[in-house]
Amino acid sequence: MNARNGNDVSPALRVIPREEHVISRKNISKAALRVLYRLNEAGYSAYLVGGAVRDLLLGGHPKDFDVATNATPEEVKKLFRNCRLIGRRFRLAHVVYGSEIIEVATFRGTGEDSEGGEGDRHVVDGRIVRDNVWGTIEEDALRRDFRVNALYYDISDFSVRDYVGGVKDVQDRVLHLIGDPETRYREDPVRMLRAVRLAAKLDFRIDAAAAAPFDDLGPLLAEASPARLFDESLKLFLAGHGLKSFRMLEQCGLLRFMFPATARALKRGDEALRSLIEQGLSSTDKRVSGGKSVTPAFLFAVLLWGEVRDLAHTWMSKGMEGGEAWARASAHVVAEQCQRVAIPRRFTFVMEEIWSLQPRFEQVQRKRVFRLMAHPRFRAAFDFLLLRAAESPAIRQLGEWWNHAQQLPQEILAEALSNHAPLTEPLAGTSAAVVPRPRKRRRRRKPKPDAS
Ligand code: ATP
Ligand code: MG
Repeated sequence: MNARNGNDVSPALRVIPREEHVISRKNISKAALRVLYRLNEAGYSAYLVGGAVRDLLLGGHPKDFDVATNATPEEVKKLFRNCRLIGRRFRLAHVVYGSEIIEVATFRGTGEDSEGGEGDRHVVDGRIVRDNVWGTIEEDALRRDFRVNALYYDISDFSVRDYVGGVKDVQDRVLHLIGDPETRYREDPVRMLRAVRLAAKLDFRIDAAAAAPFDDLGPLLAEASPARLFDESLKLFLAGHGLKSFRMLEQCGLLRFMFPATARALKRGDEALRSLIEQGLSSTDKRVSGGKSVTPAFLFAVLLWGEVRDLAHTWMSKGMEGGEAWARASAHVVAEQCQRVAIPRRFTFVMEEIWSLQPRFEQVQRKRVFRLMAHPRFRAAFDFLLLRAAESPAIRQLGEWWNHAQQLPQEILAEALSNHAPLTEPLAGTSAAVVPRPRKRRRRRKPKPDAS
């Protein structure tokens, strides 16, 4: 197949001089500038490229800086002591400065004029499985996914080189694929997810021609590497625009190819699940923008909860014991999900804990309450319970009860729990009963072993 995919893009270079664009070296990381200058001084061409140029034009502060050059990876390695070569499918150089890594990629060619020795490009059923043919900057531009991602900032004169009309798209806030959309998605189906992610992140629209193939080609995502889909799902959901990504994925019909169980539950009209997911993502987005840490485990626990809960309930209604039903339902849903998105074990382990603690919130006898509060995953499981409020008034009350219980001094809570019958209707009258009494009435006690 023609590597340029029969599209009719012919590079028409437009050079935007320094005084006509807003990119300033002040906003480019020192490490990236060092790499660019060093390559340039050694006689190679060196450009900042991709998302960084796009984001700088938009006035943003890119987190990662990619460099494109005509130096081969081996030549790059010779120039930098702090450099390692990585990747088989897409070979490139990483230049490391402390915690910052600058990715340096050699211009990719079309493969047609490959002489074999230098590199190779391998296409199976239209899908690019290896891409190591070096080329010119024009060819490199055409191999990128979206026009806005194919802009080059030239360190030799600080101009921006635009081969495909990317600057206009940045201004119009639109994502156009370079070339024929269907061919480009067949080459790499993950580009469909990148379209959604970038549209959500940048608040851009996806051009109609780029969105049209989603329905037909979405199933190709089943062939994408689950490890890559895991990385992509973190970028979709944990980068500060998770809620928007989720809504767009569902709207575009792509959610079902990444999270089939989630899409199924939502399709069944599980509005409580929708509310759980939307609130979970929205609070994650707030944490990200506030610079707080976020965990993939909580997020995936949120996305998959509907199916786990329904399955556990079904099995319990058929007579399976509660603990076993929850454990089996969790394992079943995780196994199915990991065929699509390879969630590492350290996260699925936490997800299963968060889920298995949910029924335990309903057991509000004294010993159990303290034991649950001491569980290392209590905080996450409790936050999860709060998100489930839309499931039923009882769950909402349960959340309120536990919220209240945690604020009480331990002795008072212990006393209140001892004085009341096991709270299967947890909360009728309880919160009133466990209002703290004046301090002077409290007796000092040795800490109880189960209350630590
Ligand atoms: P982000 O802001 O998330 O980093 P990005 O566009 O920089 O977005 P990267 O994954 O960092 O995304 O990729 C850097 C650049 O490499 C892209 O801008 C694009 O030019 C090119 N690129 C990345 N993935 C693909 C792909 N699947 N197909 C074609 N080009 C790609
Ligand atoms: Mg990037």
